[in-house]
Order: sequence, then structure tokens, then C-alpha cells
Amino acid sequence: MPEVSPDVQPYFDAGLGVTSQIFAELQANPDIMRAAVDMLQQRKGQMLRSALQMFGRADEMEPAYLFAMDFVDFFPKPWSGILSKLEGHKRMSEWNKEVDRYIETMHDPRNRIDIEVESKIGPHGGPLYRFCEAEDCDKVEGRDLDKMKACSQCQLVFYCSKECQKSSWKAHKDECKLKKHPPQQLHAQWLMEQLMVGMSGVAGM
Ligand SMILES: [Zn+2]
Ligand SMILES: [Zn+2]
Repeated sequence: MPEVSPDVQPYFDAGLGVTSQIFAELQANPDIMRAAVDMLQQRKGQMLRSALQMFGRADEMEPAYLFAMDFVDFFPKPWSGILSKLEGHKRMSEWNKEVDRYIETMHDPRNRIDIEVESKIGPHGGPLYRFCEAEDCDKVEGRDLDKMKACSQCQLVFYCSKECQKSSWKAHKDECKLKKHPPQQLHAQWLMEQLMVGMSGVAGM
């Protein structure tokens, strides 16, 4: 516990008293407690939207991602090596179910596959539909071809074709040896990362 100056101590105690009183009441009323937690949970997407607006990046954000965010209690991000396979699969189906619900209920005029490509996650926490990482290639799994091929050496980079792999080898060679290539992310996940960095900058952390 931090030291509290004697002048402030009474207010501090009163504050603690009120807080613990509220907490005790919430604990005594599990329904109210649950409602309060639910309320906070279901505002995650909205809170993110406001934060993105603050940074002028809201237009870039995938709406299906923000929608799903309100209904799950985790942040989807590449989690290979952090979560068990079982937990990864569990979160994947939980998340993608919400994306499906977004598509069914929100009447987004885009094609289903275009929304899924931008928002669905795989068991590894990154994009369900891998994209080709060659410069100037925008091919995506599920839309333009069945399956990307991983770099046979490091398994971290994905290409749509031998041609794309060849044209990227020079740029990829060094990081391939070091197995240093970052895992693929959805654009929404990348944006979230930027937002976190931006917010910690603003907060001076
Ligand atoms: Zn390609
Ligand atoms: Zn490689």
C-alpha cells in the first residue's frame, strides 16, 4: 500500500469505505454484479470506436471486428505458443460465430467473403484467410485461391505462388534464417496495435 499523508487519510478511508460498500452490495446482488460486468463488456467495441475516432482512424476499422468485440471477452491476436491449441480453437469459433452474426444481422452490402477476409480468425489467432506477402500481390485465401503456401524454411511467411515466393526471396532471406518474420495479422489487428501504441504515447506511459 502506498503511504497516505495524514491530512488526506480521512478522505482516503471514506473513499475506500464507499468503494468497498458498493463492491459489497454488488457481491450481495449477483444479478446487479452480472449486469454491471455485462454493460462494460458489451461496450468494448464502442469504446474502441471512440478511441479510433480520437486518432482519426475510425474509417479504416473493420466494422465486423468491432461488432464481434462487444460479444467476446478476449482480444483476438496471433497467440501461437501462448494459448493451447484447444483454447485457440475455442476462441476462433466463438469469434467467427459473432462475425457470422454480424453478416446476418447488420446488412453490410459487401460480399460475405470480403467481410470474412477482413475479420475472421484462424486457430492461431491471426487471419483465417492468409494473404500473399509478396509486394504488389493482393491475393487472399478463400477468395482468390484455396490455400497459400508457407515458406518451406521458416513456415512464417505465406505466398500464393512460386513466382511470388521467388520475387520476395531477396527481401525475406535474412529474416527467414533468423525465423524473425512477425505472424500475419488482420488489418484490424494491426490497427488495434497502433491504437495501443498511440494511447500509451498519449498517456505518457
Ligand atoms: Zn502472390
Ligand atoms: Zn522463410
